[in-house]
Amino acid sequence: MKVTVNKDTCIGCTLCVRTCIDLFTLDENNKAVALVEVVPPQSAECAKAAELICPVDAITVE
Ligand code: SF4
Repeated sequence: MKVTVNKDTCIGCTLCVRTCIDLFTLDENNKAVALVEVVPPQSAECAKAAELICPVDAITVE
């Protein structure tokens, strides 16, 4: 399972960071970045939750 963030779409709301502190952080421009490319199995549910919670659908988990 891989996770990516579309920085062009991200509005920096921090929801993904607060949902999955192990998977996301904000960069210097207040855009979310994924801390990993491949999601560890124990974080799979969290990654899916972040994908759903993002208000602008900037997160893709596949
Ligand atoms: S939840 Fe979406 S819009 Fe909010 S910081 Fe994360 S990627 Fe950006």
